[in-house]
Amino acid sequence: MKREAVFERDEWRCVYCGEQFAAALLTIDHVQPQVRGGDGSGGNVVTACATCNLRKGHRRLAEFLLDEPAALVNFRQFARHVWPRHLRTLDEAITALHRRRDTGHGAPPSR
Ligand SMILES: [Zn+2]
Repeated sequence: MKREAVFERDEWRCVYCGEQFAAALLTIDHVQPQVRGGDGSGGNVVTACATCNLRKGHRRLAEFLLDEPAALVNFRQFARHVWPRHLRTLDEAITALHRRRDTGHGAPPSR
């Protein structure tokens, strides 16, 4: 899916902070990272502002959303076009990460 089409679909709104921006300030973020086999199709890409994308940095999406509850609320509200299977995977990752941090042990990260 083309960048401009993704921005238009998401109404130029960052799914993490919920604010609207000019296209020049927006980036494309992949729900399932490309290194993990995620592609550029509509169900795997969301609009993110440059600031949020930078703040997310190298963190996995689940990690970022767990660290920043406000971003999680916005993501749930605005990332409506993400495929359900990606949302399920994300939910599972957040739950697993949360449990691991709570107890200090648990399953090793899946790779
Ligand atoms: Zn943002």
